[in-house]
Formats: sequence, structure tokens, C-alpha cells
Amino acid sequence: MIAESLKIRLDSCQELPSLPAVAIKIIEIANDPNADMASVCQYISLDPVLAAKLIRTANSPIYKSRRSATNIRQAVSILGMHTVIVIALSFSLANSLMKTTLPNQSPVFDSNFFWRRSIATSLAGVALGEKLGVKFLDDLFLASLIQEIGILAFWVIMPDEYSKIFQSSPDHDALLIAEREAFGAGHDELGYALLHKWGIPDYIALSCINSHCAPEPKSFGPMLQACLAVSRYLADYFLVPKDSQMMNLNKAAQDWLGLEASTLIDVIKIMEEELSAVEDLFEITIHQPSEVNQILAEAKELLLLYSLSNMQVLENKSKRDGLTGAYNRAYFDETLQLEFQVAQQNNLPLTIAIFDIDHFKRINDTYGHVAGDAVLIAMVELIKKRIRQDDTLSRYGGEEFALILPGTPLAAAKGLIIRLKNAIAEIVHQIDDGDSITITVSIGIAAFLEHAAHMRCAVDLLHAADAALYTAKNAGRNQIKEWNLQ
Ligand code: GH3
Ligand code: MG
Ligand code: MG
Repeated sequence: MIAESLKIRLDSCQELPSLPAVAIKIIEIANDPNADMASVCQYISLDPVLAAKLIRTANSPIYKSRRSATNIRQAVSILGMHTVIVIALSFSLANSLMKTTLPNQSPVFDSNFFWRRSIATSLAGVALGEKLGVKFLDDLFLASLIQEIGILAFWVIMPDEYSKIFQSSPDHDALLIAEREAFGAGHDELGYALLHKWGIPDYIALSCINSHCAPEPKSFGPMLQACLAVSRYLADYFLVPKDSQMMNLNKAAQDWLGLEASTLIDVIKIMEEELSAVEDLFEITIHQPSEVNQILAEAKELLLLYSLSNMQVLENKSKRDGLTGAYNRAYFDETLQLEFQVAQQNNLPLTIAIFDIDHFKRINDTYGHVAGDAVLIAMVELIKKRIRQDDTLSRYGGEEFALILPGTPLAAAKGLIIRLKNAIAEIVHQIDDGDSITITVSIGIAAFLEHAAHMRCAVDLLHAADAALYTAKNAGRNQIKEWNLQ
């Protein structure tokens, strides 16, 4: 999996932090299916700082227990053994690693920022998990905390080479790609190798890899994996609130968790509520309280904008034809009704036209459907460019398009339609096999105001345009006919 040369460097690296005795013991217990509660308590009691942190965790809002713990036994009974092991591991890992000093400490690596980001990521992971009702919040907490440990490992084993890659990568995803190119493995794989070397249970260690790609995880549920992946984006925004980070976050949350922007607001609120408890436990400041308020206010504003624009996109999609992007038939019917009413009530001009490609079937038969589709797309693109914003171009049927021109008298409409017809005939459609073709269209026009006496409703106008089109086809195609009393 991980490039051999990288593995050798990892194994032989002297500067890698060694784990404290308590962490090693806890890892042993975590890997022992027969471990009992008494021995867990015994080992934790050996480290009074760790014991105190566990008691505070049991009493912190993250666990919201009704009882309060005053000693390690009570903490273990409130949290449960699995949680205690996982949390003890989180603290002892973070604690020993935070003290790591890098060889030739490069000014580019900001260890404080790395840990603020890691701890913000676990805060984000847990907040997401809470909002989504994920069961194993503690696993999520530890996995989010250490999912980027590979970045630290890179800094330790090859500070100079890594510094160049790190500096020239604009964001996390770019960094991962650059690492893979330069070293044959990303910090996801290196992180896994390191945790594996330390004996961290595989289901946790694998989270480094699982959170960076999309394969089905073996033992880490898909929901946990998705929370982990989204937690990175959430932490990035929480730390450095930029619009572009919010865009990435919103997309990740939508794609991986199906989360609406409004739910993300709730998740950020949970992060705010639990921030100070987590800062206390890790003895680190992620943000000053005044900054948090501002971040939250900006996040809410941005997310609100996103949810509005999402609604617009959805609404727009339901109006459009998927192939050509012209409006669809339903939208055409609705618009024609409306425009007809407006024209009728105010005595205003309204002209419509139906375009039908001549012998379109032959194009499909000769060059295939894909070529036919491309012809439709190109024609729509051309028409869209040449009509006004108030005009509506819709796909009326397979290769038939309807144009509604509100406020346009027949004479003016005819001018536009002649120009459109000529321009359509001038498009040279390149076919894949090197051939090129041109098309012609037949067009039927009907005008409301000029024939108001015969146009009592929208359907009358539509039938008139249809009849005119029929006449144009019968007269030999490639021409425009307007409806007239015969
Ligand atoms: P006419 O000059 O009488 O209009 O002849 P025509 O061949 O254009 O008309 P006809 O109604 O016989 O055939 C229309 C063709 O349009 C048949 C159908 O397969 C094709 N068509 C309809 N929708 C699409 C589409 O979305 N993509 C492609 N490639 N072809 C389509
Ligand atoms: Mg046709
Ligand atoms: Mg047709």
C-alpha cells in the first residue's frame, strides 16, 4: 500500500514521538477483548492528569449525563468502558504529540495551528454525529482528532522536502494530490501506517484513509466515515472562515451526508456550545469568544444564501428541458397562458412561433442520435443568444421549439424570425466522423393582436401557429408561414 521507501523512513525515524507508558497500556487494553473495567481504572489512575480529564469529560456537555462523576470509577460507569478507552487514547495521543518538536523546526509548519485544526475537527465530527444521531460519538471524536496525523508524520520524517509541497498546496485536497505525486503516498496512508505501527486498533487507524476517499469502509460505518470526511471541511471553515471554504463545506455536506445548508447551521451551533469544554480539556484555544460569535453570524448568513440559491437551482431545473436547457413544455404552457391573459387584458401585441427542423429523422438515421442531440443543443444555443430576456424559448416536442414573444407585434416578430431562420441554416455542425452538415427549419407564426377577433384563448393562438407550421411543411419546408384567415 504505502510506498516502500516511505515505510522505511517511517520505521527508521528517530524523531517520531514515542507514546507515553499510559497510552501504550491503553492501546493494549483497547486491543484486548477480555479487558475488564477494574484494570482500565487502575491504569488510568496512574496518570492523575488523564484521570482528571476523564472525570471532566464525563461531566462535560458533550456527554450530558444527569449524574456527575467525582472519581474515575464513576466516570467509567457514566461513560462506559469503550468510551473511556477511546477518550483516554485521544488525550494521551494528543498530549504526547502536541509536545513533539520537529527536527530543524521549519517556520512553515505551525504546530499550534495543526492542533487547533485537529481539535476543531474532532469538535466538528462530534457535532455532526450528535446532529445526525450517530451512536459512537467517542470513536468519531478520536478518529476525527487523528485523521490528519499523517501530515505531522510527513513533517517529522522529511521536513525539508515536505515543506516545499506543503507551501505550494493551496488547500487540503491539493496537498493530498501533491503528496501522492511527490512521495507515492498521501498523508492518509502515512497516517494509517503510523497509527498501525503504534498498535492503535485498526478500525480507528483506518479512519485516516477512510475519511480521505470514498470506498466502502470495512468496520467503520458509512455514516461515521461521511461525518469524518465532512468534519475536515467544517473545521477548515470554523478556523479560517472564507467563502470558498464554505462552498467546499456545503458541497461535502450535501454530497456525503445529504445535509441541507440549514442543518449545517445547527451543527455549527452545537460546535459553539461545546467549544469551551473541548478547549479546556485539551488546554488549547481555538478561538476567542468574540471571534466565535462573528464566525457563527457569518456562517449563518452564508448558509442562508446557499439554501436560497439551492432552491432556485431546483426550481430552475424543474422548468428546463434536460438536453437543451430550453424551457420545457409545462413551463411553455404556463407562460403562454399568462402572457395571453396580459396581452388580452391590456390589448398588447403577443406573437408566437413554432420551429420544426426539416427531415430531422434523416440526421438521426444517418449520423446517430448523439449527432442529432448535438444539432438540437447548438440550435437552442443560437436562438437563446439572439432573443430578449422577456422572450421564452421552449422545447415544444422532440425537434420542435416554440418561441413566445410578448409585446412584439407581428411585423417585428417576422424580422427576428427571418434572422433566426437564416442563422440556423448557417450553423455548420461537425460530425465525429469528419462530415459536416447544415439544417433548415420550417416555422409557423401566429400573432394575437393582429387577429384578436379570432384569438379568444391561448390555445387558439397555439393552434394557429401549428396550422401555419403545417402549411410551411406542405409548401416544401425551409420557409416561414404566418397564420391568416384562409
Ligand atoms: P419533417 O421535416 O417533416 O419535420 O421531418 P422530420 O424527420 O424532422 O420529422 P419527424 O417528426 O418524422 O421526426 C422527428 C425526429 O426527431 C424523430 C425523432 O427520433 C427525432 N427526435 C425527437 N427528439 C429527439 C432527441 O431528443 N434527440 C434526437 N437525436 N432526436 C430526436
Ligand atoms: Mg421535423
Ligand atoms: Mg416534428
